[in-house]
Amino acid sequence: MVSEPTTDDPPIFEIVSYRKSGLSLNHITGCPADCAYCIRLDAGGFDRKRPTLLLSDEEAVDRLVGHKYFTPDVTPLQIFNRTTDPFLPTVMPHTLEVLRQLARRGLTNHVLLITRYRIPKSACLEINDISRGGPRVTMLITYSGILDHQIEPLSSKLAEQSLRTASTNRANYKVILYWRPLIQGVNDSNEHISRARELAQLADATVFTGLFYRQSIRRHYQDLGIPEPYPSTARRKILPESLDRRVTSAFQNGPPLFRKTSCAVAYVHSMPDYNGHISYPAICTICPAQQIERCVAHQEIPERSRVEELLAYLSLSAPFSIEHDRIEISGLRDEDRYFLQHALRFQVHDTEHPHSPNLHGRSEVGWSDHGWPKEDRS
Ligand code: SF4
Repeated sequence: MVSEPTTDDPPIFEIVSYRKSGLSLNHITGCPADCAYCIRLDAGGFDRKRPTLLLSDEEAVDRLVGHKYFTPDVTPLQIFNRTTDPFLPTVMPHTLEVLRQLARRGLTNHVLLITRYRIPKSACLEINDISRGGPRVTMLITYSGILDHQIEPLSSKLAEQSLRTASTNRANYKVILYWRPLIQGVNDSNEHISRARELAQLADATVFTGLFYRQSIRRHYQDLGIPEPYPSTARRKILPESLDRRVTSAFQNGPPLFRKTSCAVAYVHSMPDYNGHISYPAICTICPAQQIERCVAHQEIPERSRVEELLAYLSLSAPFSIEHDRIEISGLRDEDRYFLQHALRFQVHDTEHPHSPNLHGRSEVGWSDHGWPKEDRS
């Protein structure tokens, strides 16, 4: 049983919030896994170990589909990706119920289920049923190969087993090997990389990504006495250039590999990337040719009037410019930017946080060539 909220629970939880990969529903909070790099160290709630239900599934889905950011059949969704794990035994019945409710409403939006727990065969069969003609479900199975139990108390063997079960039983949903966080000096040996390549054969696609190393996570590493992997923290994920090269060359002519979650999710469902990364060719260098064609075919620079219309819908006004590869906009919250980006399928960047052209949206830590003009380098 998931427990009911207590008076100790903080009064306000963001039950629906927008992340770059989708609109996220989190009406259960609490996870016992204790991963040292957990995003809840940064976002809050890391101390809650016991999953607690904050709203009924029906009320939660009502909130999700009634949200100003939600567009039927368009907005990508993520269920229980911020505050718990969708396949924890006590959470899983709620995950399935949310999927059923979305299917009953006739919705075909992408639904991302990101997990590092055991996926039982019975859940796979049920998700096959629910996703027949309904939500486009993708299971993203987080796997790191990290052996240090202080960093990751759950064994990666669990993820390997889930990958096998999800892959063997898939009919109407897709499976992604979510290889993360790749950390230099921790899980980047040649053996780690070859193991991931072997596992990738079981999935429809693989995404590799680095570590969010923010101040809160660094403090947690220090408190636990774990050697710090990088000399500095960063706003974006850290994945050094040499590691990016080693991974991409190990996968050359191998199973499909992606740098971006949305790219892999789109690919496995034969759709163009909903974040419009196609404007950044440095990201697409490893993408299968047929997928590049798909994204190019749907690539469109938005009209100014369409951007204004979306801002008006959000009751916002903000200065923006439309470039050939992105919109630059000032003063919006990240959530509003993601809404624009998904609605337009075109990159929308915050003027205050420019992207380095060669870094695939990652931090500059570990990269020698940022792609900035010389005078802009810092
Ligand atoms: S072509 Fe580029 S944008 Fe499209 S899915 Fe591939 S990597 Fe992503």
